[in-house]
Amino acid sequence: MSAPLTIVESAPPPAILDLSPEEFRAWLTARGEPPMRAKQIRRWILQGRATNFEQMSDLPKSLRAELANAFSVFGSTIEKHLASRDDTHKLLVRLADGKRIECVLIQDDGRATACISTQVGCGMGCVFCASGLNGVERNLTVGEILEQLVLLRNLTVDPNGTPQFGQTGPLATRLTHIVVMGMGEPLANLDNLLSALAIAGAKDGLDIGARHITISTVGIPAKIERLAESGKQYHLAVSLHAPNDELRSRIVPTNDKTGIPAILAASDAFYAKTGRQVTFEYVVLGGLNDQPVHARQLAQLLKGRKAHVNLIPWNDVEGLPYRRPRDEDLNGLIDELKRSGTSVKVRKRKGSEIDAACGQLRRKAEERTLASDPVEPVS
Ligand code: SAH
Repeated sequence: MSAPLTIVESAPPPAILDLSPEEFRAWLTARGEPPMRAKQIRRWILQGRATNFEQMSDLPKSLRAELANAFSVFGSTIEKHLASRDDTHKLLVRLADGKRIECVLIQDDGRATACISTQVGCGMGCVFCASGLNGVERNLTVGEILEQLVLLRNLTVDPNGTPQFGQTGPLATRLTHIVVMGMGEPLANLDNLLSALAIAGAKDGLDIGARHITISTVGIPAKIERLAESGKQYHLAVSLHAPNDELRSRIVPTNDKTGIPAILAASDAFYAKTGRQVTFEYVVLGGLNDQPVHARQLAQLLKGRKAHVNLIPWNDVEGLPYRRPRDEDLNGLIDELKRSGTSVKVRKRKGSEIDAACGQLRRKAEERTLASDPVEPVS
């Protein structure tokens, strides 16, 4: 009897953006190349001008061949691209190991904002959110975080720098803002996120400065303090979602371990250290956290703080038993907050017809895979 055939899958070569600047420089130096080549090569990739090493025309031929043997230019591919009427573009991205994440390009008032993920899935378990329904699988690498930015930017300009047209006119020619509000808990993957954002922020990277980057967190006090210590001017958004611990622990299970007072103390410390006003996000769940008593408690909680509240009417997630708020309840929250002197806005709804609430597209794709239905063709 012959032995069963085993298929050994070789791991794909590492993507360039997954090498730290130090590692990449060391690799080049070992081959007698000047370390500045690292920036040169990274620029080709970050600026979306090369999809293979052969196209990097300012590199010696021999180096191009060595690079192609050792690395891949890019680890991620677009599995699905959806565009909505308001030119919100959502990508379902397939990572080198076959796992999927989502990222979104939002265009508004001359801004082009990339909304990116930091983990495959999410371990926080917020009851209303699609991303965490099956827990967290792993952290994204530095390269996987950066590649989302490149994929989104490549939607707006072609490799020659020519702006692309969308439904509403020419698209922005560069990304102006980043919001870390996709799948996952950013502060649970803080090291990789900060390394990726440092490269994205560099003048010869994507030139998106810290003041144009918002990091949204469920509220992990020790990590908020570490972020403040980073000395960078990131904008912090904290997902509060409830005005008292009893209700917050029902909606955001990790609150059991932290509690609102510790989160507010860390947010105050962040403001004191960075001078950057903190935004509190509040997903409005009809009938659950939008009643007059909640409005009063929330206003009381934030009174006297230099804070801003973003009310986010819940985006429907199939199968979850929540509903969007009624207008009068939403207005009740707004009025109460304004009366107590807290600045408040309702988050505009973008791209709702393409499941822009994060985690939903991936969930549908995974369900299709499980049901062994073909996934729709790559566009
Ligand atoms: N883990 C981070 C990032 C989550 S996504 C955090 O907790 O902040 C960014 C925001 O969208 C969070 O405030 C999150 O609670 C909210 N959100 C998630 N699913 C939503 C939905 N279906 N409708 C409205 N907001 C949602």
